[in-house]
Amino acid sequence: MSDLLLKQLALIGCRGPVITPGSTDYDRARQVWNGVADRWPAAVLRAADVDDVRKAIDVAANCNAVLAIRGGGHSLPGLSTCDGGLLLDLSQLNSGRLDISAGTVEAGGGALLRDLDGATVPSGFVVPAGVVSHTGVAGLTLGGGMGRVSRAYGLTIDSLIGVEIVTADGSVNWIDAAIDPELFWGIRGGGGNFGVITRFRFRLHQLGPVAVGHWMYPMADAQRAITGLGDLARQRPREFSVAFTLTRGGLSVTAVWVGDSRLADQMLSPFGDLAGVGEGEMGAMPFLHLQSRNDAHFAWSRRYYAKGGFWSDITGDVVDAMLQQIASAPTMDCEFYITQLGGAVADVREEDTAYSGRQAGYYWIAEPVWDDPADDERCIEWGRSAAGRLADRSIAANYVNEQSDTAIASGAYGAVKYDRLRHLKTRLDPSNLFRLNQNILPFAATPQ
Ligand SMILES: Cc1cc2nc3c(=O)[nH]c(=O)nc-3n(C[C@H](O)[C@H](O)[C@H](O)COP(=O)(O)OP(=O)(O)OC[C@H]3O[C@@H](n4cnc5c(N)ncnc54)[C@H](O)[C@@H]3O)c2cc1C
Repeated sequence: MSDLLLKQLALIGCRGPVITPGSTDYDRARQVWNGVADRWPAAVLRAADVDDVRKAIDVAANCNAVLAIRGGGHSLPGLSTCDGGLLLDLSQLNSGRLDISAGTVEAGGGALLRDLDGATVPSGFVVPAGVVSHTGVAGLTLGGGMGRVSRAYGLTIDSLIGVEIVTADGSVNWIDAAIDPELFWGIRGGGGNFGVITRFRFRLHQLGPVAVGHWMYPMADAQRAITGLGDLARQRPREFSVAFTLTRGGLSVTAVWVGDSRLADQMLSPFGDLAGVGEGEMGAMPFLHLQSRNDAHFAWSRRYYAKGGFWSDITGDVVDAMLQQIASAPTMDCEFYITQLGGAVADVREEDTAYSGRQAGYYWIAEPVWDDPADDERCIEWGRSAAGRLADRSIAANYVNEQSDTAIASGAYGAVKYDRLRHLKTRLDPSNLFRLNQNILPFAATPQ
């Protein structure tokens, strides 16, 4: 099958390079962010344009080859690579084009968050997205997209105006809420199930001065600090958001304020005194700096697992469960990461997008991080069991983008939305060509 695939790729003539196991940069080309996903595609096509994307889809469908689509390569389960099939690498489609007069920005299907922020932030605008600048715009947006300014401006999908999509039949179309409302509903949370997005258009939001406070608390004070954080955060307006990370080394709190800068001190400083005075500081910070602060910690090729869920609020029993679980974390970098939601995220009705969990107050993940492959089993086991303790206390919906385990779509979306997504999938991709994602099964297909 791989011979046929390579022959067809040669025949069809792509503008971008086809990288195969014999090529010098094959090893680099096959890599994705999570070192656990060490896979060996028969070929990597680094698409140069939309026509290359169309050709890759045609060839994969004709050869019945597994097709992996890679935007930023951050998929936790490694769904943007494959063994033996075709990896369609979109990294060259990474443009970010600002149109201030229209109030929009366009990002290519392989753009990273740093490309999107780089196009908008220097001109005083923002599209709400994630917290690590080497994450892909595509995968993040298609699942929902939450980050530092989501409480103020919504999820990434809430700023989405339309996309250029190449579907399984090879056709290239622009779609938006007027042209294909059902597909536009589905791509706002339904992941890469319906086609390859080659261009996103987003609405801009004005971004004023940003103030950030960051404090550390020792483990002995973590319980009091998290409880106090929950009490304070509940009273804050949407221009405020807080996230915290709990490791064996203690608690780290990051609070962000994007409202009137005269109120920054009042909004942020109590988070530096949650259980006695925390170690840290607060002040104005360039947004681009905030967006790349975690880049090195979440470096490519380390080993990761994550499992998460939504809480309505921070309650005493989830704080106790986290503290008990973190004590047995197998490495110092294993963490619980919790980010505040609500505000503009909850302004959108649950049924208006495929994304599920609009009314949640927080998103949490249990995320083991390690480097030695010999630790895979115990780290993944810790992640699963730690998440299991928190899942008991979570609401029914889930966020498909932050899960290392696959086959979770029906539970994450719930029965009604999942059924609606299956109808859409059956219309657009009846043979499930796009199956390396949190897969929505078309009717009549069986799990692969
Ligand atoms: C370090 C790190 C930090 C993160 N931070 C956040 C955060 O702050 N907020 C948040 O919401 N999420 C966050 N996430 C989760 C993130 O949203 C997902 O991992 C997302 O899938 C990453 O997108 P990507 O394009 O980089 O991934 P990829 O691995 O390239 O793709 C992920 C999925 O999307 C599909 N896909 C990729 N590109 C396209 C395309 N152009 N068209 C169609 N399908 C495509 C892939 O086939 C795959 O199924 C983070 C993840 C990591 C690893």
